[in-house]
Amino acid sequence: MVDFSFTEEQELFRSSLREWLEKNLPLEKVRENDEKERLPRELIKGIADLGLLCMTLPEEHGGVGADWVTTTIAAEELGYADISIALPVFFLVEASWGYVVDRYCTERVRDECLRKAARGDAFIGIGVTEPGGGSDVAGFQTTLKRTEGGWIVNGEKTYISGTEECKELGGGFFCVGYHDRSQLHRGMTAFYLPLDAEGVEVTKRYDDMGRMAISTGGFKMTDVFIPDEYQLGETGWGFYLTMEGFDAARLLVSASCVGAAQRAIELGVEYIKERKAFEQPLARFQGIQFELADMVAELEAVRSLIYRAAWMMNKKYEKAEPGKMPDRRLSLECCKYISMCKLMAPRLAYDIFTKVMLWFGAYGYTKECPLEMGLRGVMSYYIGAEGATNIQRVIIARETLGREYTRAR
Ligand SMILES: Cc1cc2nc3c(=O)[nH]c(=O)nc-3n(C[C@H](O)[C@H](O)[C@H](O)COP(=O)(O)OP(=O)(O)OC[C@H]3O[C@@H](n4cnc5c(N)ncnc54)[C@H](O)[C@@H]3O)c2cc1C
Repeated sequence: MVDFSFTEEQELFRSSLREWLEKNLPLEKVRENDEKERLPRELIKGIADLGLLCMTLPEEHGGVGADWVTTTIAAEELGYADISIALPVFFLVEASWGYVVDRYCTERVRDECLRKAARGDAFIGIGVTEPGGGSDVAGFQTTLKRTEGGWIVNGEKTYISGTEECKELGGGFFCVGYHDRSQLHRGMTAFYLPLDAEGVEVTKRYDDMGRMAISTGGFKMTDVFIPDEYQLGETGWGFYLTMEGFDAARLLVSASCVGAAQRAIELGVEYIKERKAFEQPLARFQGIQFELADMVAELEAVRSLIYRAAWMMNKKYEKAEPGKMPDRRLSLECCKYISMCKLMAPRLAYDIFTKVMLWFGAYGYTKECPLEMGLRGVMSYYIGAEGATNIQRVIIARETLGREYTRAR
């Protein structure tokens, strides 16, 4: 049986979230946050009070035990409201990476970070990219050396979302490094890194082109002691847990891009009905109508794919026990579909923003028009945050052709 409908609860969740965001985060506020380069703490508290932060975590761990379709709805609505993509980043990083941390962590990590993050009193992010590159996870240089009761970690992570927010609120990052390089993928181990651990130095805030209200920074780890209680999963699971987190994050990234693109279309439709050229509203010209029709059709196709992938995520986690990796076959299927979403959603959103900006003419090139914020925001996901576009193609091709066609290291 195929059923494309949302439940009554999910519909109600969407409409009440839309209403809350319209009141608390109108586009003028998004612009203000973008200019001030800061998400107001009351906004973070506000979405925490709604149960949105770390919403995928079970109730007993601080979340609301939300399923992946409901979480995807939240990601889409946040993208619709905050087209600059700053608040969606704060939300989705925690809902995805927080979830993976929670699945494999000890009670100590939950107490020190996750329960607080769910209340908006800490931040949990992902710190995997290194100065040498982000796409080639197995090429990372961070090392873990065994010591009594834990690991000594050395390395550097760059282009990490939320470093300043984490410094201010407290919390830490999902991290990964090699405990045994000779074993390649199987030689990596994941761990929770509190950002205030001794030996951690927050290096810089990048001057990004977009999503200005959330920071992107980096940190160095010099002889940082990571107690065994901060290890995530078993020794050697690091690469696989990283891929698990990417799948969750890429699903939500895609939904936020679709939400932002939907908003761009709606702003564009409002404008072309009003704006006249050659004594007619722009909306009467077929050249513009055809562009609109393509956008609406393509966006709906990608949105459907995203909710299918969300449904697959529910299936994947239905029987997955905490602390154990989910079924491999379901994981790979999910991964392929989610890579399709991440390949298409940011690219389509970028394309839609660009085209709608053209409808606005010269006004579209000004900061009075909100669209340029959206273009800069979705570009972050098109260029590579949560995985470069070509890497999604590598995954889709690998899952289609078979692993024997994967380029050997
Ligand atoms: C705004 C922003 C926020 C970010 N936040 C985080 C974060 O919170 N945590 C984190 O860990 N990282 C974060 N990143 C980093 C992001 O994950 C990386 O940018 C991404 O993984 C790509 O790595 P790279 O930038 O080093 O590019 P590279 O890996 O150097 O790739 C460069 C280019 O080469 C292409 N390429 C690479 N390999 C192949 C191949 N096999 N075949 C064909 N083409 C290939 C890529 O598609 C890309 O276009 C963020 C990035 C941005 C832009």
